[in-house]
Amino acid sequence: MTVRGELETVDLPIEESAVDALLSVTPAAVDPAPTLSYCRNVFVPLTTACRYTCTYCTYFDPPGSASVLSLEDVRDICRRGAEAGCTEALFTFGDDPDGRYTAIHEQLASWGYESIHEYLRAACVVALEEGLLPHSNPGDQTREQLALVADVNASMGVMLETTANVDAHAGPRQKSPAQRLRTIRNAGELDVAFTTGILVGIGEDWRDRAESLLSIATLHERYGHIQEVIVQPVVDNERWDGGTPDLETLRRVTAMARVALPDDVSVQVPPNLAPARELVDCGIDDLGGVSPVTDDHINPDYAWPALSELEAVAETAGVPLRERLPIYDRFLPPAYRNETPVEGDAEDVTDEENADDAALGYEADDAALEDDSGSRSNAAAGEERQWISPRIEAALEAADGYERD
Ligand code: SF4
Repeated sequence: MTVRGELETVDLPIEESAVDALLSVTPAAVDPAPTLSYCRNVFVPLTTACRYTCTYCTYFDPPGSASVLSLEDVRDICRRGAEAGCTEALFTFGDDPDGRYTAIHEQLASWGYESIHEYLRAACVVALEEGLLPHSNPGDQTREQLALVADVNASMGVMLETTANVDAHAGPRQKSPAQRLRTIRNAGELDVAFTTGILVGIGEDWRDRAESLLSIATLHERYGHIQEVIVQPVVDNERWDGGTPDLETLRRVTAMARVALPDDVSVQVPPNLAPARELVDCGIDDLGGVSPVTDDHINPDYAWPALSELEAVAETAGVPLRERLPIYDRFLPPAYRNETPVEGDAEDVTDEENADDAALGYEADDAALEDDSGSRSNAAAGEERQWISPRIEAALEAADGYERD
């Protein structure tokens, strides 16, 4: 499969037969997860500037109204979050502010920063000083941009959304699925534990959904760095009146995500964004973040659920709820792991499950997995992976651990 964008082209070895197999999956094909996890976080909306104008998005502000949080504000939010027991500073972004955002660039320059990534690095350091682990979502990123902030983040992310070129991304500043795939690839090459996901209902069809999930699975097969995949429906808001997917669609696509991805990759449905109670039997094992401090700056119409809501979802599923860090346990050295391994975790992948993967066409094919730049990750080369930097390890060591429910 070739995904094309304005600037990028990405080739992924996805067979039509694998797409067809995934399209036949129904919720009946998956088992409910034995536990549900979540993370305590605070939202830090570093900037509302974005070079894109996705038609369903209420996050970005146009030039003239966009803002950048000062480092004092970042510190205040992080301090309140740490005091409330959070472990994650979730840095939300638009995408690199383009030349239209002169006020943003002038503001950054007046503070001594040449780029938003330079500024993000400083903000992540503030979060670490306040005792939180940064997880940043700065949108599309070049390898150089990622490298600039990788060592001050416990994990990072970007929503793939879809591999299809949809009208919702169209216009003079078109977001490119190929660039998103490149970002995910760049993270894999730099050993960054990574979160991604699909956005359902923005004009993609079922085949696009299957190809999107298989693209993520293929990149994970190559780099081993995907920690969770979010399944998120688009919702009507002041900029989008295209409707939201119905429950049957969400149940099917969630089950497809569970089957498409290996068991060591979580499938996340945040209850504030989707009807998680009606999806718990479709293979989800993570409920995302919950914050006692800030509003959800990505979807302001949907307040973060209280922890009691997460407990209610877990009760509906009849499984325990457990807290996790923004970087999943399997990426941590054993001394820093807090979760109790459960059946279905990465170490417990069975021959039968591997056989299922093979049926969907996921077997590693060294020739096919050689990417178009010719580079290979440490994992592909069989070298030991270092998922956390000395700086993040020091932050983990400084923390006395966190209380698991
Ligand atoms: S969805 Fe992301 S990339 Fe698109 S306009 Fe909103 S903030 Fe920008």
